[in-house]
Amino acid sequence: MKISRRAFFKYIKKELPTVTFEEIVTIERAYEFAKTAHAGQTRANGDPYFQGHCVPVAMHVIDLGMDSTLICAALLHDTIEDTSVTVEDIQTEFGDDVASLVEGVSKLGKLKYRGNERHVESLRKFFVSIARDVRVVILKLADRWHNLETLQYLPEEKQKRIALESIMIHAPLASRLGMGKLVTTINDLAFPYAYPEEYTKTKKLMVARLKKAEGTIKKIYRGMLVTVNASIGYTPQIDKRVKGTYSLYKKLERKHWNEDEIFDIVALRVITHTVADCYSALGAVHNHWRPVPGRIKDYIAVPKPNGYQSLHTAIFSGDGPI
Ligand code: MN
Repeated sequence: MKISRRAFFKYIKKELPTVTFEEIVTIERAYEFAKTAHAGQTRANGDPYFQGHCVPVAMHVIDLGMDSTLICAALLHDTIEDTSVTVEDIQTEFGDDVASLVEGVSKLGKLKYRGNERHVESLRKFFVSIARDVRVVILKLADRWHNLETLQYLPEEKQKRIALESIMIHAPLASRLGMGKLVTTINDLAFPYAYPEEYTKTKKLMVARLKKAEGTIKKIYRGMLVTVNASIGYTPQIDKRVKGTYSLYKKLERKHWNEDEIFDIVALRVITHTVADCYSALGAVHNHWRPVPGRIKDYIAVPKPNGYQSLHTAIFSGDGPI
């Protein structure tokens, strides 16, 4: 899929409403510069390289909450590696910051996972040491995200290598940066290519369980809105999150494929205004539904190493595990 110039700039203004006129002018310059540099190049699916890859990567950078400097770097991210543009050219046109980001991501591109599991940790360390600027890693993750989205066009051998590399290197890096949603995105895009049989088996199990639990989830969702509201005095935001396929697979492996030990295929995420309301909400939930013993986790008092904070619990639905 290629993105038109108009759609791209519309996306920036919509998702980044604080962007200034000066920033837009610079992004436009980076757009034209990179488009010219990649002229004539195509992707495996026949799309023009720039509109079919560099622009979607720049959009993913926006999805990850980054600013106009990183948008420019994303548009330019493959110019040093794949065109006659040099780091000095980028320095002259767009300054040191953008140039060092593009240079960093080009160096990372040379590292490849060759199937040696013992090599993974050192590869990860290498990654971090080269990317002293965390934005380089984020740019690389946006690049990988889009490459995974277009994996179907590559030869099978390459699909498998990229998918395994993403699960072993890129997803753990995203996790270390506290980008939980991106971890799930990367793993779930890569899973079918990395381990096709295990993927099919896991997906089948998940679909069956979701179908069975649909009514129960709706019932608890409605009950939770009312119960928590009564406790905190306003209607909280409640999101339904479905466990990622890869994450479910890992858990099934740990539980030796004993389905009855999986309780968290679906979870409800209750978002309150204050920390005190969060504890009140948990109390109200436990007062209304019986909690499963030993499943309460207070990540507010004890945050995860990546800074994640919330309260976790499991409750008996009365309809068996979801
Ligand atoms: Mn790229």
